[in-house]
Amino acid sequence: MNYDAILTEALDQLRDEGDYRTFAELERHRGAFPRATRHSGGVTGDVTVWCSNDYLGMGQHPDVLAAMHAALDTSGAGAGGTRNISGNTHQHALLEAELADLHGKEAALLFTSGYVSNWATLGTLAARLPGCVVLSDAKNHASMIEGIRQSRAQKRIWSHNDMADLEAQLASLPKDAPKIVAFESVYSMDGDIAPIADICELAQRHGALTYLDEVHAVGLYGPHGGGIAEAQGLMHRIDVIEGTLGKAYGVMGGYIAASTALVDFVRSFASGFIFTTALPPAVAAGALAAVRHLKRSSVERDLQKTRVAQLRARLDDMGLPHLVNESHIVPVMVGDAMKCRFISNLLLDEFGIYIQPINYPTVPKGTERLRITPSPVHSEADLDRLVGALGSLWSRCQLARRPMAAQ
Ligand code: PMP
Repeated sequence: MNYDAILTEALDQLRDEGDYRTFAELERHRGAFPRATRHSGGVTGDVTVWCSNDYLGMGQHPDVLAAMHAALDTSGAGAGGTRNISGNTHQHALLEAELADLHGKEAALLFTSGYVSNWATLGTLAARLPGCVVLSDAKNHASMIEGIRQSRAQKRIWSHNDMADLEAQLASLPKDAPKIVAFESVYSMDGDIAPIADICELAQRHGALTYLDEVHAVGLYGPHGGGIAEAQGLMHRIDVIEGTLGKAYGVMGGYIAASTALVDFVRSFASGFIFTTALPPAVAAGALAAVRHLKRSSVERDLQKTRVAQLRARLDDMGLPHLVNESHIVPVMVGDAMKCRFISNLLLDEFGIYIQPINYPTVPKGTERLRITPSPVHSEADLDRLVGALGSLWSRCQLARRPMAAQ
């Protein structure tokens, strides 16, 4: 059997549909973000990055870099093992204590990524709570979906952010069955925000555990960067808060924060925690510096909000269609996979602007978009150049505009 031929056929189909993934090759430079060098077929060029999840530029923050250098010098490169077997370093313990404190929880547990934290935690809880049913928001991230699938627990998908549907599904389940309501705070592709208080209310009434993915919110919302739950005073009502250290905190890794018993349970039973090498101590030290900085400082969060508002206003002025939401994510809607990729390529090649196209299956067909994430390290001049480039490509591709904002 010609396996490569079978695989290539599937890839060709992706290409025909405009959904084949290619990504720009970037070289990041210390202190230069959002500027980077793009490598393409032996040629290099300068680009401004507009689609990074290093939302606040913490990946270049002096405190973070200093902490990583110091830990590298004192502790070396790798952790040397799984957390169980020699890889449990002082930096891991300090970071877990800081994260537990950030979310007002008894304990926290680190994983090698946000993906692994969702997959391992949901997979473990749902599999080991006898008869557990997981109620999962329809727009939950792949890592939660995969965790639930792996658990083989019964799964009910509730319509996105739809309280009536969640309530009906909860009410239809046996009272004494363990239940987990799994959802996100900021949804990454539309940037909309869950009605957390209402969800907690329903979950409590039906005796369900609440599991909240705050990956796109930690560091960014709340007086200490504890996420949307902190901003809304709801952290104590969430049983498990899950987050990443790879986005607003600029480094890498994921975690959960919860009760001592729940964290100990996951630590003791989750294969995705137990059987994998621990994060390097320098990574934990860098993340710790980022968490501590954003606990104290709202400067970055505030400036980001300003840049987001400025971008939205400029898009409105040009009549460029974007989804309205309450978060820092600005999805500019193209609605066609080929055109989305075409515009992204032209932005890169002609304007030195990098925005990865977001196509199916990440978003439904017909809602293809450019997902823009303004940060405090973008300037107003950067915004002007971005919106000018988008405006000219919108005309060139004869894409529809919204009525211009009133002058
Ligand atoms: N949850 C959500 C909602 C995400 O969007 C992502 C990644 N984009 C993850 C979890 C995984 O986080 P990480 O990148 O740290 O693996």
